[in-house]
Amino acid sequence: MTATILDGKALGARIDQRTAERVRDFVGEHGRRPCLTVVLVGDDPASHVYVRNKIRRCGETGIESREHRLGADVGQDELLRLIQELNHASDVDGILVQLPLPGHVDAELVLEAIAPQKDVDGFHPDNAGRLACGMPRFVPCTPRGSMHLIREVHDSLQGLHAVVVGRSTIVGRPMAQLLLMADATVTMAHSKTKDLSATCREADILVAAVGRPGIITGDMVTPGATVVDVGINRIDDGGKGRLVGDVAYDQVVGHAGAITPVPGGVGPMTIACLLENTVDAAIMRMA
Ligand code: NDP
Repeated sequence: MTATILDGKALGARIDQRTAERVRDFVGEHGRRPCLTVVLVGDDPASHVYVRNKIRRCGETGIESREHRLGADVGQDELLRLIQELNHASDVDGILVQLPLPGHVDAELVLEAIAPQKDVDGFHPDNAGRLACGMPRFVPCTPRGSMHLIREVHDSLQGLHAVVVGRSTIVGRPMAQLLLMADATVTMAHSKTKDLSATCREADILVAAVGRPGIITGDMVTPGATVVDVGINRIDDGGKGRLVGDVAYDQVVGHAGAITPVPGGVGPMTIACLLENTVDAAIMRMA
């Protein structure tokens, strides 16, 4: 058996099409476009690429995007003042502060300063708490995108055992909450889990969000399981840099039921969900 490949690029494009239709409806009703504002601090090359991609995809779906670039030496107070301004700007629907922030800035404080109604990344404790209570407002984009991919192969998750490896607030925890809300039985594994292999083998749905290339090997995946690989790891493949996931893809693709590739799986879904969240924010603010 060869796994169904869950193509995040194709699904992301379909979601973007639907987003573009929702943007047109919003413009028709309110006479302005939904607006995402991105705050980029410093000169981390990867962050610049991520922000460029987000802004390009905004343009493709008709969402207005604005960018605030601040130097790596920006003071925390100045950054907090900018966020307050954006919180009060009536024509800004979503605020995204690109992570990581420079070491002298308290990232938690900055993320908490974003108005929860504009927190399209879903990282504010208010939004995390709502999700944990089963009353989501904004769901972090990577878990939301992973759920879309899982839904491609599972109409219902009732009775299925989902194992999430990784418990970060950005990916692992919200992922587990979404699976639980969908009636899966959920196990969360992390660096202190006693027998990771045995835990993973119990999974009908296995989500890897660790940040370690190939940590999920073939023997850890039960035949027929759905495998979602969130990891993005840059490895030096004989001098040629290459992106790989947390799953040893070649060992797993032969017996999993479905699998997301890296790149081209979860990654493209993340931006599609950011755009969905931005339109959701605009609609909620105008309601
Ligand atoms: P974090 O470093 O915040 O969390 C990693 C998690 O993995 C932690 O909970 C940690 O456990 C756990 N872990 C580490 N080592 C092991 C181990 N040996 N066995 C089991 N669990 C382990 O990472 P993120 O959640 O932010 O990101 C995870 C991966 O996803 C990264 O590769 C990142 O690049 C990628 N990513 C991809 C996105 C996309 O768009 N596709 C978006 C966001 C992230 P503990 O808590 O005990 O330390």
